[in-house]
Amino acid sequence: MDNKQIARILRETAHLLEIDGAIIGRYRSYEKAAELIDGLPESIEQLVKEPEKLEELPGIGERMVEHLTEIVNTGDYSLRRKLLKKYPATILDVLQLQSLGPKKVAFLWKNFKAATVADVEKLAKDGKLRDLAGFGEKSEQNILKATEVFKKSTGRFLINVAESAALAITEHIKKAGKAAESVTPAGSLRRGKETVGDLDLLVTLGDGHTSQKQVDALAKHILEFPGIDQTLAHGENKVSFTLENGLQVDVRLLEKESFGAALLYFTGSKEHNVSLRGRANDMGLTLNEYALATLKGEKPVARRTEEEIYAKLKMDYVPPELRENTGEIAAAEAHKLPKLVELGDIKGDLQMHSTASDGKNTIEEMAEAARKLGHEYIAITDHSKAVTVANGLDEKRMAAHIKKIHAASDSGLGIRVLAGGEVDILKDGALDYSDEILAQLDVVVCSIHSYFNLDRSEMTDRMLAAIENPYAQIIGHPTGRLLLRRDPLDYDMEKVLQACAKYGVAMECNSFPDRLDLKDVYLRMCKERGVKVVISTDSHSAANLAFIRYGVTMARRGWLERKDIINTLPGEQFLTALRAKPGATHKKPATQSAKK
Ligand SMILES: [Zn+2]
Repeated sequence: MDNKQIARILRETAHLLEIDGAIIGRYRSYEKAAELIDGLPESIEQLVKEPEKLEELPGIGERMVEHLTEIVNTGDYSLRRKLLKKYPATILDVLQLQSLGPKKVAFLWKNFKAATVADVEKLAKDGKLRDLAGFGEKSEQNILKATEVFKKSTGRFLINVAESAALAITEHIKKAGKAAESVTPAGSLRRGKETVGDLDLLVTLGDGHTSQKQVDALAKHILEFPGIDQTLAHGENKVSFTLENGLQVDVRLLEKESFGAALLYFTGSKEHNVSLRGRANDMGLTLNEYALATLKGEKPVARRTEEEIYAKLKMDYVPPELRENTGEIAAAEAHKLPKLVELGDIKGDLQMHSTASDGKNTIEEMAEAARKLGHEYIAITDHSKAVTVANGLDEKRMAAHIKKIHAASDSGLGIRVLAGGEVDILKDGALDYSDEILAQLDVVVCSIHSYFNLDRSEMTDRMLAAIENPYAQIIGHPTGRLLLRRDPLDYDMEKVLQACAKYGVAMECNSFPDRLDLKDVYLRMCKERGVKVVISTDSHSAANLAFIRYGVTMARRGWLERKDIINTLPGEQFLTALRAKPGATHKKPATQSAKK
């Protein structure tokens, strides 16, 4: 742990204490220690081994030595963690906004429950701050500037944002006609990581368009892309620029001959590539962005496609989603890579909302859009009553809604529509509907939408209680994280997965781009423990249904195969694979079976 990290923990603790209303002396001591450590040439990690020396530093007392020892030994600090139970972690982002000190942040939290940069931005945009003491119109403007800067500088982007940028730029490049033969995204977007740092695009030059003059002309064309905010670099074979949302884009112009080597190199991950290079060296070869070549004489042996390169390295082709150096190299060598699930394997979508709660489209519109995507069945899963902000349905409304869904399903929509519910897991782990309603639902998805900050043991018990409820079938967006906005729930994943395996409860792989929950590591744990997985979109409009592809990408990153995911099964088999609820086999609508 380096001094910078230690200083950051101390500074965040100071800020959180200030928000919490601690006396000035208390938080100042953390701030001072942070300032000192930031500029200190000696390593604190070393110094904690000799506490006497540490205590000689100005402003570092006995207590601070204890705190520093704890930070070095555990990688975190208990007081900071405790404060983060009281306040959302995103409040640390708000604190980073220029022009908003801890006092104002505390004020906004107390009065508006503003806990994210987006919350603060909305308050300023709506003109809610100008009349407040200590703010005013000028400060409102400054806050808006600060939120812009923040958004540009945080440097991670959701997968759908990066993907649509890649598509728009690709379309623009293709206007250059035969000069560019292909455009391929590499980097973390190609590996399907849930967020993307910067965007790498590889362009292969068309036949007869490879002279430097032609390459320059193509580069010039690329830099005319209308979404460019700032051009960062214009080299012989590369242009870099930022877009208006702050996303950095690097476009490389390559000859076809070395495309495979470049694609492999720029797709990464770094760790995967380091392993591949080691393997190449052991075989008397060298691997770089231009070719796999002989160590002596650097004679290329493979470079045109990734497949050729892997083959020369005596490995099976490794799909990009697996290239994280977490066992894929050994598996590829032993011909034991999983046959990853594909988009076309998915036969249904088991979480979506209609106008009955907070969705934008009717049951029929959702069904029609899903049918067009090729699904054989869907479940409409509107919110239960606890989620009042999303117009959740009480028992009476839900009972009527179930009848309506079954009627719609039987009306010849060309797709089977199941009556589901996204039922809240209450604070104590109870489900938000009577057993009578739960028994009537074809699909019970159980999710947490409140009390996100319970401590670990309480949260674990809450999850276990929900899973043990005999009506629970699927856990929706299991960790509750919102990418770039909200941290995951803190619970014992191992215990929760054991319980899911024991009771046959499925974990949802949520395809919504700001959730993508579960993450790859947890999906892999599901597979290893025999926990069923469902891939759903959590759509709030018909257009969202296409997000299913991101869920499939996450599942691939989790090494999942078709057999690991129950909504790859046809309708009847899917319902059989769901946990059986008390009181009988699942109730089927009388007439309909899944028909194309
Ligand atoms: Zn939900």
